[in-house]
Amino acid sequence: MTHPTSPHLWPENTDVHDGVLHVNEIPVTELAAGFGTPAYLLDVPGLRSRAARYRRAFEEAFAPAQVSVYYAGKAFLSRAVARWVRDEGLRIDTASAGELATALAAGIDGAEIGLHGNNKSVEEIDLALENGIGRLVIDSLPEIDLVAARAAARGQRAPVMVRVTTGVHAGGHDFIATAHEDQKFGLSLASGAALQALEQIVANEHLELLGLHSHIGSQILDPDGFAAAAAALLGLRATLAERTGHLAAELDLGGGYGIAYTPQEQAVDIEALAASLAQACRRECERLGTPQPDYSFEPGRAIVGPSMVTLYRVGTVKPVELEDGGSRLYVSVDGGMSDNIRPALYGADYHAELAGRTSSADPVPARVVGKHCESGDIVIRDVSLPGDIAAGDLLAVPATGAYGRSMASQYNLVPRPPVVALGDGAPREIVRRETVDDLLALDLG
Ligand SMILES: *Cc1c(COP(=O)(O)O)cnc(C)c1O
Repeated sequence: MTHPTSPHLWPENTDVHDGVLHVNEIPVTELAAGFGTPAYLLDVPGLRSRAARYRRAFEEAFAPAQVSVYYAGKAFLSRAVARWVRDEGLRIDTASAGELATALAAGIDGAEIGLHGNNKSVEEIDLALENGIGRLVIDSLPEIDLVAARAAARGQRAPVMVRVTTGVHAGGHDFIATAHEDQKFGLSLASGAALQALEQIVANEHLELLGLHSHIGSQILDPDGFAAAAAALLGLRATLAERTGHLAAELDLGGGYGIAYTPQEQAVDIEALAASLAQACRRECERLGTPQPDYSFEPGRAIVGPSMVTLYRVGTVKPVELEDGGSRLYVSVDGGMSDNIRPALYGADYHAELAGRTSSADPVPARVVGKHCESGDIVIRDVSLPGDIAAGDLLAVPATGAYGRSMASQYNLVPRPPVVALGDGAPREIVRRETVDDLLALDLG
């Protein structure tokens, strides 16, 4: 039993036997025969252990403060996934009526669900209140009156947090502190809008202020941005306490913990990040002379991203001469931008390996492309693949669990791939493959 190369990219329970990738002991050759391709393969024990690891890392680092970890469902949500992460002690963070309804349909208690969104509809707010939502995260000043009115109409008090734009924006290694955030989310700290929102909420009998929220970005590998945002929130919490006597109970520091997509990248060391962040928070509370709040976190990508692999079948293989005299092998797969929009959307990089056989051919420079009618339909811009790769081969792309299926489209009317759960009883689809009949069912002729 050998590991695939760069084991840190692959789901925990992945091995290679005689050149064939196995996920939870099942060969992908068998999975391709049984479920077809493309397919997202989910390592269920791997997903559960990542969820538990994130929860423990924050709980241990921040003890004795109370810690809740919310799984950010937008990364990928299905009823089975909601139940698995709930069973590992996580709550669920949602950002639409569809995500909220999915979490509720999974049997998650409304009190263990949060609702985000910069443009929540009245229907979304009502659905949340009707189900005893644990927290609504307020994202604008007009939303305060809207949520209060809906809560009043139901004779309820809505539990809310305020999403604060701290001026810390992070993503990848760089974080840039700006006085004002030119983006749509949250209420600005610098302009005073965040403090104004907090004061309005404290004064409103139909709203219960739980705390302050910050989400600084995604795919972040450097802990400094989190600490800077936490310090800003703790300062605002102290100011609010001074002005109103209300000491907010909780700080939500959001998600955004980075993972490895390519062999060169390393995921965030979550235990080290949580420890340094907890220490920064303790120091800041001491400096401000305020007691420690409770804390919550919202990892999405870091839980589900590394737990899935996309399995493709290779079709056309085409050598293309380059202007510099070199050549590149264009390897077409049976999916593409419809099942993974991230390369086209963000220029995101991925890795791929031949998954169904051994090869002793020398590696050649290759580009993995999809089957869609766009030249930007690229799965992997630059990757080395065995020079004898050919139609019919299986190709596996790791770390596709987050923002893969959840951002999938039916572009070119290509039905969306299934999510196949492995390591939880017999292999089975937890989201079935879409069919052309599904697509035609929406077409009213
Ligand atoms: C997207 C998002 C998350 C999750 O981000 P990841 O990068 O997937 O960890 C958490 N909280 C909020 C408010 C978000 O918008």
